[in-house]
Amino acid sequence: MAWTIRLTSKVSLCASETEALDPGPETCVTGEMREKMKQAVVIARSMALVARQAVTRHRDLPEVFETLNKYFNLGSDDPNHARVCSRIADVYTRVLSGMDGGYRIRAFASEAVYLGKSLTGTRAFVPGQLAKGGEALGRFFQAADDGGHLDWDRMQEFAYAGSSVAPEKREIHLSLSVIRDDPPEDIARTLVHESTHKWANTDDVCYKHSTVAKQMSSDGETLQALVRQGFSYGAALEPKEHKARVTFVKYRKDGKGPMSIPAYPKNKFVASKEAWINNADSYAWTARRLWKKCETIFRIG
Ligand SMILES: [Zn+2]
Repeated sequence: MAWTIRLTSKVSLCASETEALDPGPETCVTGEMREKMKQAVVIARSMALVARQAVTRHRDLPEVFETLNKYFNLGSDDPNHARVCSRIADVYTRVLSGMDGGYRIRAFASEAVYLGKSLTGTRAFVPGQLAKGGEALGRFFQAADDGGHLDWDRMQEFAYAGSSVAPEKREIHLSLSVIRDDPPEDIARTLVHESTHKWANTDDVCYKHSTVAKQMSSDGETLQALVRQGFSYGAALEPKEHKARVTFVKYRKDGKGPMSIPAYPKNKFVASKEAWINNADSYAWTARRLWKKCETIFRIG
């Protein structure tokens, strides 16, 4: 049954158009859930706005600098620092203009099966990204050698050529269980993540919840030591010949031993600097963190 709930003058929450994703009747969205969604769409826009401003005008402030280092692996000594920042800001600009043009959020049943895949545990997705996301970038990364220099302008061209599905067709789908269970701030962060898929063709290179960038100390800290501390790692996630000795390790899911990542896709090799600037979760967590720190960043109060 089709239904639409207006959240703001530009944004509405609707039932999914796909029968397989049917979230049920409108009454499944309680007053409390509506209220949370209203807050979430406003917060999501604020997050993107704060992030864009911070990356554009305040990128040398410690809070901004640390955030970009943490989520984009971007150090101050990076010769491309300014260019990467402008590329990041550009993604937020696309998100903001997309949001301001108005959009729909499609609620889906959390137990739905879509294209043969169970969506249990899936918070949200954008159909075009699910099917086509990163295809062009994948080709690009496969062609590039690890130590080689990548042409940034070409990179940009590829990044925006990622999906053959028009942005207006790639709607943000959000699980009804997320709408029901999560606080507005977490929903907002997810909306930023999905918005970068929708309007800036980002990819899911790695998720914050399962991956951590660990700065290796110079006193002989080894990967083996990290594994003992409860991390696991995949060889493919470990950058080779990286000056800053940043190592990417994956959290162990249970207590039963290191989780191996035997076939981490070559096209998502996160050692490539370029992989980070196309990573949706980097934008989502950067926006959330800068939004939380905006009083410090903008010297309010
Ligand atoms: Zn994603």
